[in-house]
Amino acid sequence: MSLPVTDTTAADTSPRLVDTLIIGSGFAGLGAAIKLTRAGKDFLVLERGNDVGGTWRDNTYPGAACDVPSNLYSYSFALNPGWTRSFSPQPEIQAYISSVADKYDVRRRTVFGCDVHSATWNTTTFRWDVQTTKGAFSAKILVSAVGALCEPSLPDIKGIDGFEGEIFHSSRWNHDADLTGKRVAVIGTGASAIQIVPAIAGKVSHLDVYQRTAPWILPRADREYTKAERFAFRYVPGFQRLSRAVQYLTRETQVIGLAKAPIFMKPLELAARAQIRRQIADPVLRRKVTPTFKIGCKRMLISNAYYPALTRPNVDLVTSGISEVTSDGVVTKDGTTRKVDAIVVATGFHVTDSPTFAGIFGKDGRSLAEVFDHSGMQGYKAPPLPDSRTCSSSSGPTPDSATPRWST
Ligand SMILES: Cc1cc2nc3c(=O)[nH]c(=O)nc-3n(C[C@H](O)[C@H](O)[C@H](O)COP(=O)(O)OP(=O)(O)OC[C@H]3O[C@@H](n4cnc5c(N)ncnc54)[C@H](O)[C@@H]3O)c2cc1C
Repeated sequence: MSLPVTDTTAADTSPRLVDTLIIGSGFAGLGAAIKLTRAGKDFLVLERGNDVGGTWRDNTYPGAACDVPSNLYSYSFALNPGWTRSFSPQPEIQAYISSVADKYDVRRRTVFGCDVHSATWNTTTFRWDVQTTKGAFSAKILVSAVGALCEPSLPDIKGIDGFEGEIFHSSRWNHDADLTGKRVAVIGTGASAIQIVPAIAGKVSHLDVYQRTAPWILPRADREYTKAERFAFRYVPGFQRLSRAVQYLTRETQVIGLAKAPIFMKPLELAARAQIRRQIADPVLRRKVTPTFKIGCKRMLISNAYYPALTRPNVDLVTSGISEVTSDGVVTKDGTTRKVDAIVVATGFHVTDSPTFAGIFGKDGRSLAEVFDHSGMQGYKAPPLPDSRTCSSSSGPTPDSATPRWST
């Protein structure tokens, strides 16, 4: 089907008119774009990056992979018989997203390198006035698909900006920095860190892993698909969909334990504890990695390789808390200084407080950031803000102020 495509190259300064604008071209933005394409609607995707993929374009760190099985972690309308493993690595996922974008011709309707600065509901025209690095747009409908794990959250640690070695966030991996034979610190023990640590432990000379909270880590049922499975995914009607349905149901049943009856989480806790006992002999390290909160209260992680990496002679798990970073090392609250050549900041993302929210203004001038700040992540029929607020000066979050050199 051939649809009129909004001209995004016009040189005049009047806003480009389009029915629907989608901000972001990760899984969500792409999915919305494909639905609108199929419905024959007029739309544009505004993407600040230079490619589709979002999370999977940005997170290229060693060991990056999904932790939801690939047959499930894909579009229902675009199953991928080509997955090589049950949990695919980042390059495969990015290639998949890219191929879906090509198949549905979404790139043609995407403005890349287009950072959305603000979007304001215009009460005269009943349209969104959108300001971007690629000019102004005007749309009837605005879809935010800016992602929850998109804006790196940078730790506010004394002295960190003065560190003179290599330093970068996990989602902005500096592939020019060769960590081979270097002393490296990884700050954080979340989902990204537990993939990075085993991937680099064997090549660095020494690795300090800084842990604030020990996560619950379950075994990872990751394996290569056999030739027979891959054949069946491709040629046996319904086989891959059945595999996906089984994965879906298995995961959904966890909701009973997570939301209703915690007793059902006990088997998972036992499996996680058994993995600690199986993979770690040292009682001190076992204690350090054993979480002190109920399983399910924070995201559960999966890995078979993280604990073995921690037991390596060149790896230390540091739990005494960071007090300061100096030009060449990390100082912990117990006064110990550990010299390092590089720091990997794996401290997660601004999940509920994306800086983009500070620039999206509704009919009464309230920014999404203000509304979310006041009443949680509820935009539709959100309760009014207290009178003392000022409409125009958004109190929303800013990207960790005075953006340091290592965040981009
Ligand atoms: C390392 C990692 C592994 C993960 N693994 C899993 C997993 O296994 N299973 C799972 O369910 N989830 C996983 N997630 C969560 C993952 O983020 C989501 O599953 C999904 O990819 C999010 O898609 P999205 O389209 O909502 O957002 P994103 O993929 O984050 O895309 C958002 C897009 O919006 C763009 N954007 C943002 N702000 C602006 C702006 N102001 N102007 C223009 N463009 C903008 C960004 O550049 C980006 O391309 C993982 C996340 C990470 C970081």
